[in-house]
Amino acid sequence: MDSVCATCYTLKRQDEEYFGGLREAVLERDGYRCRVCDASGRDKRSIIVHHRVPGKSVLNMMISLCPGCHAKVHRTKAVMSEMPPLLLILWREQHPDGHEQTTLSFKPLRPETQTDPLFNDEKGRILSLGYGSK
Ligand SMILES: [Zn+2]
Ligand SMILES: [Zn+2]
Repeated sequence: MDSVCATCYTLKRQDEEYFGGLREAVLERDGYRCRVCDASGRDKRSIIVHHRVPGKSVLNMMISLCPGCHAKVHRTKAVMSEMPPLLLILWREQHPDGHEQTTLSFKPLRPETQTDPLFNDEKGRILSLGYGSK
């Protein structure tokens, strides 16, 4: 079990060497906003610069994420619900073998139970029609 890109967490954000001095450039390019959900850090420091390839400090391989989206990229083990496309891409990069179940399960929304109050009020009639035999 390797901890791919856990470096994003463990390394101090001030580690300019790790970011190749590009952290500010990435943030500036992305407008200090999360590229996935568009959240903007109340203070700049809450936005995380994520390495799409660990240790590869190249401008276009780094991306600004809010802590929430960044955590999803790293910590989500299996995609069970819909993700923003970009988040899915980033997640897939970190979890090449991760299970992805993005097919939406269309639960039948048809109400099977008849809630027409009229029916409830007229139980006798429903019974006589054979609906209330349960
Ligand atoms: Zn976000
Ligand atoms: Zn990361």
